[in-house]
Amino acid sequence: MKIDHKRRFSVNEPKQEAVKKVKSQEPDYAYLETVVREKIDFDSEKICCITLSPLNVYCCLVCGHYYQGRHEKSPAFIHSINENHHVFLNLTNLKFYILPQNIQILNDNKIQLLNGIKYALYPTYCTKDLQSFPKQCFDLSNRAYLNGFIGFTNSAAYDYAHTVLLLISHIAPLRDCFLLNHFDNEGEFIKRLSICIKKIWSPKLFKHHLSVNDFVTYLKVKEGLDLRFIDPRFFLLWLLNKICSSSKQLKSILNQSCKGKVKITKIENETEENGPIISKVNVKPFWVLTLDLPEFSPFKDGNTVENLPQVNIIQLLTKFSNRQTYYADTLFELTRLPQFLIFHFNRFDRSSEHPVKNRNQTIVEFSSELELLHAKYRLKTNVVHVVIKASSTDGNAFNGDERSHWITQLYDDKNEKWIEVDGLNTTEREAELLFLNETFIQVWEKQE
Ligand SMILES: [Zn+2]
Repeated sequence: MKIDHKRRFSVNEPKQEAVKKVKSQEPDYAYLETVVREKIDFDSEKICCITLSPLNVYCCLVCGHYYQGRHEKSPAFIHSINENHHVFLNLTNLKFYILPQNIQILNDNKIQLLNGIKYALYPTYCTKDLQSFPKQCFDLSNRAYLNGFIGFTNSAAYDYAHTVLLLISHIAPLRDCFLLNHFDNEGEFIKRLSICIKKIWSPKLFKHHLSVNDFVTYLKVKEGLDLRFIDPRFFLLWLLNKICSSSKQLKSILNQSCKGKVKITKIENETEENGPIISKVNVKPFWVLTLDLPEFSPFKDGNTVENLPQVNIIQLLTKFSNRQTYYADTLFELTRLPQFLIFHFNRFDRSSEHPVKNRNQTIVEFSSELELLHAKYRLKTNVVHVVIKASSTDGNAFNGDERSHWITQLYDDKNEKWIEVDGLNTTEREAELLFLNETFIQVWEKQE
């Protein structure tokens, strides 16, 4: 059959215009050589640097700046002419364009460079990929990193968020669901969270670290996250509840793998003849089980930093593991032990004027294995609290208090190693030395 190419265009169109359009279908691939991957940063807020609008934003792949639009007079169009930069990526639909000619690069899947850029913006995974994780990877500067065990920039302001994002991306069933699904219909929050977790596990990062500034700003501005008393426990609970209210699929995974239940029996009276008189039985579900530390005040009882009290985790757990013992007329029984058991060590009195300075500094001793009600658990994640003392130049920056800093220690079960993530840095740690710090949150995984 003979195809009349002219018929692809309106009959009223001048012939010359039709020829131009046919010609314009083919992009100039020489422009791809001007792309500079090192300048591209997909963690930053995706708004046009001229109009500040988040709509229809393109990344200039030559200088890394974001500009709106593609049509004539749009910031992207004008930028392409003024700066002689020609390769752009639409940040919403992941399509590549040559400007100002306004030609889409249709066969981008066949171009390795463009595939890599698309992957940096939005990593995708298949089940087979996950089996090889974690693995040694290299960024554009040839710096080695282990995917899933990466550092973050701007640790002073957002370290609580780094800790929690690492923690949840190491809960295997949750991680797998986040990596393998696109969540197109689950709303902006789940979409953004999934991209964070997808990036944490990316084997093809341009830089071996990430930034969550944009994500946390979004949570604060659009999702009502209150940053006043923020610490990893507060943020973790907020995030888990938010996930559950946003996605049925993720809620069911969380309920299955992380939700425990504790039966609380309060007794009113106890006599020798009648035995305990039960007044109230309550079964409470929990994500995080709070363990109270023995009372401690840093300035009383002659305690010094060199002479900190120590307690073993087994001792802290007797409250939940001893089926007969009542604590202040209350009996606690763990009736559901989840696959991932999360503990919180209660160190801060938020009603105190200086909660960080006056925190409970008791050292908790633990080994990397634990038996609780005949279930065997292995330590996966240990979140550690350290303090940053206000320097003389800070003035009264923390209202006379010290500032908390959070470090995340993660177990790499493939290589049987502990990796500590502290800001940008990742370091291998000896398992035996983990408990020397002020542990704040722990995640334990049940062993089959
Ligand atoms: Zn540019």
